[in-house]
Order: sequence, then C-alpha cells, then structure tokens
Amino acid sequence: QTAVVLFTSDLRLHDHPPLCAALAAADRVVPLFVRDEAIAATGFPAPNRQAFLADCLAALDAGLRERGGRLVVRSGDVVEQVCRVATETGATEVHMAGDVSGYAQRREERLERALAADGRALRVHDGVVTALAPGEVTPASRDHFAVFTPYFRKWRAQHGRGVRSAPRRVPVPEDVRSERLPARRRLSGVSPGLAPGGEQEGRRRLAAWLRDGLASYAGRQDDLGDDATSRLSPHLHFGTLSPVEVVQRAGRGGGPGAEAFVRQLAWRDFHHQVLAARPAASREDYRTHHDRWRHGRAAEEETAAWREGRTGYPVVDAALRQLRHEGWMHNRGRLLTASFLTKTLYVDWRVGARHFLELLVDGDIANNQLNWQWAAGTGTDTRPNRVLNPLAQAARYDPQGTYVRRWIPELAGLEGRTVHEPWRLAADERAARGYPGPIVDLADARTRFEHARGTGRGRQ
Ligand code: FAD
Repeated sequence: QTAVVLFTSDLRLHDHPPLCAALAAADRVVPLFVRDEAIAATGFPAPNRQAFLADCLAALDAGLRERGGRLVVRSGDVVEQVCRVATETGATEVHMAGDVSGYAQRREERLERALAADGRALRVHDGVVTALAPGEVTPASRDHFAVFTPYFRKWRAQHGRGVRSAPRRVPVPEDVRSERLPARRRLSGVSPGLAPGGEQEGRRRLAAWLRDGLASYAGRQDDLGDDATSRLSPHLHFGTLSPVEVVQRAGRGGGPGAEAFVRQLAWRDFHHQVLAARPAASREDYRTHHDRWRHGRAAEEETAAWREGRTGYPVVDAALRQLRHEGWMHNRGRLLTASFLTKTLYVDWRVGARHFLELLVDGDIANNQLNWQWAAGTGTDTRPNRVLNPLAQAARYDPQGTYVRRWIPELAGLEGRTVHEPWRLAADERAARGYPGPIVDLADARTRFEHARGTGRGRQ
C-alpha cells in the first residue's frame, strides 16, 4: 500500500503526526510538496519567505534521503497535483496537517472532494501547525475565544499529545517524478541579513535557546538593544519546529523565563483559533470598525517614509530598517511601528500589514493580520485608545540607544539621549548627518487621533 503525505506549513520529520500515520498505514509513502500557483498569483513575491522555504525543502529532502527516501516536488494547483500523484502511485490515502486560513480550509475541502471522487481518503491531522488545534478549547457560549487571558488559562490546563520521534526509515516508491528543488541563489530581493532555514537549523536554534536564552527571557523580552528573544518565529511559521515540542521542552524546567515564553507561544495559538473561526479577519476589522483612516497625497508620502525608515523618529526608523535588512523585526519594534502607522499617522492597518507581509520571513496571515488589528484597535484589543509614544518607548526599551545606533548609521556616533532626539542637534550638524526631521508632530497627531476616534482619552 502507498500513502501520500502532503507537506505544507510543517516542513519537518520530527514530531510529524501525518507522516507517522502514513507510515503506520502503508508500506511506502510519497512525501510531497506542491509549489502552489495560487499563492504565487496573490502578487506577494515575498523573496525572504521564498529563500527560507528553499532552505527548508533542501533540509527536508536531505533528512528524507538519510532515511532512504526523498522529497517529491510538483508545481501547480495543489488539489490537481495531489490527485495526479495519488493516481500515478496508486495511493489510497493522503495525509496532511489541518490549517486555519480561509484559503487553507477551502483547499482542504476541495481536496477531500476530489480524492473521494476517485475512492481515496484524505486524513487531516490537528495539533501539527499549532500546539492546540483551533476549537480544542472554547468558551461556554461561543466557537472561539476573543480575549486572550481566559483562553490562556484553558490552553495552559491542557496536557497536549505526546511528542513523536522522527521515523528511522521512509520508504518512497522509486519511479515517482519530481521537479528540481527551488534554489535560493536564484532569488532576488532577499534581505542581506536573512537567517538560514531548515529543520536541522531550527533544531540547533531551539537547543541553543533552551540552553542559553530561555531562563532570562522574562526580564529581557522587550529590550530592543539586548535582542534576547528566541527568533524561532520563522521555524514555527514553516513548521521546521513542532509547536507541541517547543511548548513541552520549554515548559519542562519551569521558572519565569519558561512561563513568559510559553505564554507567547499561546498568543500564536490564540490568533490561529481566531482566524480559523473568522477567516475574514485577515482583511476585515474583527471587532471595532474604524472608517476614518487617512488617504490622499500627504498620507501616502508619510506612509512611504514609514516604509523606508525615514519618519525622523529614530526608534521607529530603526525597527523598519531592521525589517528590511533581516526580514525580521523585534516584537517591541512591531508594536511601536504599528502604533505609529495606525494611531500617529492614522493610516489603515491593512497598509502596514501588507508591507510587513512583503518582508517578514515569519509573515503569517494569523499572527500578522491579527496582531496588526490588535495594535490598531480594531481587533481583539482591550486598550484600543492607547497610543505608543515613540520617545517614551525609546527611553524604556532602548535606554542606551544601542538599537538605534545598530540600525541607523547616520546617528551611530551620537552620545546619550540625543540619539533618540536628533532634532536637538545644531542645524548644520543635523544637515551633515542627512537624517530627516520628524514627519509629524506628536501632539498634533494625538489631537487627530482623539478626534477620529471621538475620544478625549487618547494617552501618549
Ligand atoms: P519570541 O519572543 O521568542 O516568542 C516565541 C514565539 O511566540 C514566537 O516565535 C512566536 O511564534 C510566538 N509569539 C510571540 N509573540 C507573539 C504574538 N504577539 N502573537 C503571536 N505569536 C507570538 N509573528 C509571526 O510569527 N508572524 C507575523 O507575521 C507576525 N506579525 C506581527 C505583526 C505585528 C504588528 C505585531 C505587533 C506582532 C507580530 N508577530 C508576528 C508577533 C511577534 O512579534 C513575533 O512572533 C515575534 O517577534 C517573533 O520573534 P521571536 O521568535 O524571537 O519571538
């Protein structure tokens, strides 16, 4: 018997329930990845994610070859390609991970119907892409949680499934045609500081994090200069690490670092269960609707300055330049740049979310869109009128100016607080450095925000 395993956002061999189930049910499996033409057609070239994906596929293929198999790659419509491979190999079952976006849910339904028409079965496995499947914990009266704290309480009380080891052997039929793996070196527009991808790299990073970073995470997670977060997000996004395994290994030792870190992993599951229940939240306001976002030339010019890291507020610009250089941004940077765009410039969160999705290596519909909504005050937000003041944020999270000096060479030589307030420099020195002045006055922006939201409580 032959079974197909369709890999999507789960590009690993360790703790992979669909692969384990397929190996238990069949003598031979076809590990398949389809380069989905529908994703290419969305107009998001996202070279950073393409590059990371190329690393992940190469690593998956290498891992399979060590186990006597190999990865089969096809391109086109996922449903058509899976059916074709199933027909070519005589497979009776297809195994895959359940996923949450509207697109993924529709794809799963189409695939199930198409396979059933040929007498084949689709087996969907939960707890692969997230630690807890959407819907596994719910409030009494709704299909999903809209507030994090009660979700976290229930999520934490779950024991979860056991972690599966990687299979020793993966026997693959010999005569299945495969395209060549995509090559990272052929891609253009990749951020120069992009981290490498792949399961082996993810496992190395996880081990180093558990050994050296986790214990001190609680006190340092927001410190921009320290850069002491795990940077596991791209591995969780591509599934080169299993979220179940990460939660269990991190939680094992206990302590404040582990607690704080596991709480962040629960945020990931939280946003996934919101999106699974409300797929339209990827583009429509989730809870509170705001329709007075700024449009027109001035807003467009300010947004362009924001994208390029030229707003004149150093901590905002540093974060946006980190994004461009690394394809990744510190969470505190994501929060304050999102607040700056949506609450200080009063530009629609979708504009910012799109820019992030173009560059982020961990760019993820659930986490990106719903965090943007959270920051903009349209989503699962308990403090929609809170505005993050970039100067207060800089003083608190980059007190030494380390982060700004790292990412803004124009300001690298400045001492003390001036690095966060370069407009205090003499005019000639300012001009010599070539760093722009602030594009917006914060007090004026606050008045605009309060007016737009009909509130006098907008706090800086
Ligand atoms: P750590 O601090 O080490 O946290 C560990 C893991 O927990 C992360 O890898 C991530 O999987 C999860 N996590 C942490 N914070 C959050 C959060 N707020 N929401 C959901 N999961 C979280 N994360 C993405 O993975 N993809 C995105 O596209 C994304 N877009 C964001 C956009 C905005 C506007 C904001 C405010 C946050 C966004 N985040 C996103 C969440 C968070 O910023 C990143 O997950 C985190 O910075 C990744 O770095 P890390 O792995 O070092 O995190």
